[in-house]
Amino acid sequence: MRASQFFVSTLKEAPAEAELVSHRLMLRAGLIKKLGSGLYTWMPMGLRVLRKVENIVREEMNRAGAIELLMPLINPAELWQETNRWEKYGPNMLRMKDRHDRDFLFAPTHEEVITDIVRKEISSYRQLPKNFYHIGDKFRDEVRPRFGVMRAREFMMKDAYSFDRDKAGLMQSYRNMYDAYTKIFTRLGLDFRPVDADNGEIGGASSHEFQVLADSGEDVIAYCPTSSYAANVEKAEAVTPSTPRAEPAQSMTKVATPGLKTCEAVSEFLKLPLTRNVKSVMFMSGADENAQDTFCMVLVRADHSVNEVKAIKLAHLKNARVATPEEIAAHLGTDPGYCGPVAAGGSFPKPVIVVADRTVAAMSDFVCGANESGYHLTGVNWGRDLPEPAMVADVRNVLAGDPSPDGQGTLELCRGIEVGHVFALGTVYSEQMGARVLDEQGQSQVVEMGCYGIGVTRVVAAAIEQHHDEKGIIWPMPMAPFAVAIAPIGFGRNAQVKEAALALHDALTAAGIEVFLDDRDERPGVMFADLELIGIPHRVTIGDRGLKEGKVEYQPRGSDAAATNVPHDQIVDFLSKRVVE
Ligand code: ATP
Ligand code: MG
Repeated sequence: MRASQFFVSTLKEAPAEAELVSHRLMLRAGLIKKLGSGLYTWMPMGLRVLRKVENIVREEMNRAGAIELLMPLINPAELWQETNRWEKYGPNMLRMKDRHDRDFLFAPTHEEVITDIVRKEISSYRQLPKNFYHIGDKFRDEVRPRFGVMRAREFMMKDAYSFDRDKAGLMQSYRNMYDAYTKIFTRLGLDFRPVDADNGEIGGASSHEFQVLADSGEDVIAYCPTSSYAANVEKAEAVTPSTPRAEPAQSMTKVATPGLKTCEAVSEFLKLPLTRNVKSVMFMSGADENAQDTFCMVLVRADHSVNEVKAIKLAHLKNARVATPEEIAAHLGTDPGYCGPVAAGGSFPKPVIVVADRTVAAMSDFVCGANESGYHLTGVNWGRDLPEPAMVADVRNVLAGDPSPDGQGTLELCRGIEVGHVFALGTVYSEQMGARVLDEQGQSQVVEMGCYGIGVTRVVAAAIEQHHDEKGIIWPMPMAPFAVAIAPIGFGRNAQVKEAALALHDALTAAGIEVFLDDRDERPGVMFADLELIGIPHRVTIGDRGLKEGKVEYQPRGSDAAATNVPHDQIVDFLSKRVVE
């Protein structure tokens, strides 16, 4: 490809709003252009990268026996009403009406559509297992679209859906996709880790996220360096402390702590470690439609933090949200800085359910708010000064140094970008939508389903987060828009240079190597800066002086080593050996 026949639209500076390296570099290299919040055009150079990713994904999905189809982005509301997701999906679903005033939506995912296909097209166990996938756009009206295509509103996903006659079949399909994902991200040249994202609905290893490791990632991963344990912090279990609760050694004392509203300030004032303090976080939960709202006080050790994903799975905290200062005052009779589980005067103004983290349940002689403005309690003990908690559960985020739940060492934390997700769904959708098959005995059975997504557009951004330097992108070979860049010095004014550059372009093209000839006749500085920004892995510089000596210059992207001189007549061979994936 010649630059003059293509389209290069690099920028010197990225717009100020671009915070992440990948976002900045994608804009500066002209891979994407913003159309609106979370909406991007893939420019010709960017699209070449996207297609590379798409093709590797497609090849591995086909190899794994999945079958490609293509489903529409716009779905009728009726289908989503069958699974109640029309009502439940929330504001991430963009809805619209057609000219007949009928309801439609932009699909944020495609379980409903594929299950509709399967219930209509598949009727016998003999037609199973099947795995259908498509590569297409999704729309999610994200609260905070950001980081460019990393968290966009319209984005490209590869989503696959497996259908099996029983759980054993489902787990086999799941494993098959897990393995295919491992191959895909390995082929793409990414440093990644599959992490447990088990939601507990089916049990066992039923959900894994594939996380590309990067400090800028939005997800936190807990992993054990001495075993294979790895889980999203949202799910990672904080195990029960190994030492049981000690006997009380102190008596409960009320201490004046005027103006000290944080655990840190109270600890410092009392000259006690933070680990002796208990932090209370208050929630209101709307248990179900008919039941009354309940007020829950969740207790964690002051150096820990509440894990809301875990907390709202507890029966007491169904549909919970953080309580308002007014609700706190109504239930505890104090303001948020001085709350605690010991009712001032023996009872709370209104019912309070106390949920203690496992660590807190094992504490004695602890410090907490006195439910009286300006006071805390020290030497507090369960069973003696207040009733045992209504519930003891794992409701905190794990910390580095915590024991690994598999008992094989201690946890470390790192950050990741979720690029893929495999999920053994079970029969949730097939039951609701009536996707059934007849078995050998002619009995009707609900099919078992799995779903498997890869954020194809997000993969491109994640790759850049991992592979860049101060000059720009350094593509892993399989994703590079072009394998080789030719940089002629003085293309417009030197006939020999022009001739050699064009001849090399044609020879490489004939050898099946994707080549980009920068024939824009820019100054060398501008040309080199652009090529480095765009990140083409191999560069050949052709200059007048070198040609006279029968040489051209070779420079791989991302290496600090000086350029190598290569005999002009050997350059095609030389490059052919280097461009293999
Ligand atoms: P996240 O937790 O990042 O919001 P998710 O868990 O909602 O993602 P899934 O429903 O599992 O996402 O979708 C499958 C894949 O699609 C994700 O692993 C991710 O790579 C990609 N993806 C999801 N949301 C977006 C988005 N807004 N922009 C780009 N890619 C996305
Ligand atoms: Mg996910």
